[in-house]
Amino acid sequence: MTMEKAIAFAQNNRDRFLRDLQELLQIPSVSTFSEYTAETQRAAEWLLYRLLKLGFEARLLPMDGPQIVYAARMHPDPKTPVVLLYGHYDVQPAEPLEEWVTPPYSPTVRGENLYARGASDMKGPLMAYLAALESILATDSLPVSVKVLFEGEEEVGSPHLADALKKHRQLLSCDAVLNCDTLILSPELPTIVYGLRGLAYFELRVETAEHDLHSGLFGGAIPNAGQVLAELIAGMHDPQGRVTLPHFYDDVLPIEPDERAELARVPWTEKDFIAQATALGVIGEEGYTIVERIGARPTLEVNGLLCGFTGEGSKTVLPARAMAKLSMRLVPDQKPERVKEQLEEYLRQRAPAWVKWDVIDLAGSPAGIVRRDTPAMQAAIRALEAAFGVRPVFAREGGSVPVVSWIQDILGRESIMMGISLPDDNLHAPNEKLHLPTLWRGVEAYIRFFYELAK
Ligand SMILES: [Zn+2]
Repeated sequence: MTMEKAIAFAQNNRDRFLRDLQELLQIPSVSTFSEYTAETQRAAEWLLYRLLKLGFEARLLPMDGPQIVYAARMHPDPKTPVVLLYGHYDVQPAEPLEEWVTPPYSPTVRGENLYARGASDMKGPLMAYLAALESILATDSLPVSVKVLFEGEEEVGSPHLADALKKHRQLLSCDAVLNCDTLILSPELPTIVYGLRGLAYFELRVETAEHDLHSGLFGGAIPNAGQVLAELIAGMHDPQGRVTLPHFYDDVLPIEPDERAELARVPWTEKDFIAQATALGVIGEEGYTIVERIGARPTLEVNGLLCGFTGEGSKTVLPARAMAKLSMRLVPDQKPERVKEQLEEYLRQRAPAWVKWDVIDLAGSPAGIVRRDTPAMQAAIRALEAAFGVRPVFAREGGSVPVVSWIQDILGRESIMMGISLPDDNLHAPNEKLHLPTLWRGVEAYIRFFYELAK
């Protein structure tokens, strides 16, 4: 009954919540440009004030970069679960400005959408948290303890967040984390992201002589660095589309049958996928669907190549050096350090003795996966199903979200990822938008999540 009252309150106050969101969206909290530092601070203070008004104990945590908005409202019963709400209040730059139909910091409703920089990523989701909390507090008391962590440097890679998590480990201790900085696949299909791929990125350099040579005088007898590198790369996949680095699959967790069934519910056809990519066909590992290939299986890609003469006209050169940028998307339990050893082992086995090679580390992050059988996850499933009328799909995102791994490593808690950003919301692009009917369903789902978690 009390939950229904909170949901009704949220419905009756949509206009006001929308006005509040528009106010927050007018603040250009662009973290990457130093001239916007004061605006980024203003967004933090706006959120701080809202949380204080909701009766939270709230403050800004001092940081080297933009401050963290921290808040807590604890349940009198210490045995009640504590949920930590993660979010970020910074946004991407709005440029190129001339491509916006309406100015990025003048939030405008057109049809069912609200257009503004940050509408979907992620001031809309932040407002959904606040609206859910206010609706409960206006009609009841919070059924769980709630803590808040809103950072202001996510769009620049959260350079100070891991240190802040370590420093404030006690303050941020919790039982579950809600992170709504993820996608929902369609307005009718509530989505829980439970897996994120990691990354291992390298530069591979090969050298066959001290300098480039005349291809007429030396070609046919002296090895060509371009040819060598091409052959090494060509050998990195077998005809079945599998990566051939020694032991590459040793740490890869298999996709379990129930997980396959969940992934099969993601409504993507091969045709849609080809059209979305503007490609001419698909490739990949035999025995896996496209959804599995891009989310649940590891990959190896060439991201760039450099070798020999590439200028206008012709030059008969025998290149002495070649370079490739290579990256692997990793799945649990692969580790970037192990993958580097596997790449080096491959090169020791395959590279001819007359080639010098070198592998340089560029970036690395491990993959993450969230268990689907925890009480918090079950609460999220029930909340989404009740709010949307459909059981949520479980999706794996192909990209990496370092915040989720840091929270897992430092706070020891897995994140429940149930965002309200649609794939066509133009995140990071001109004309970013938020689909308002999805926002309102999100508010209801978050209200329900707090009550379900208390059960
Ligand atoms: Zn975001």
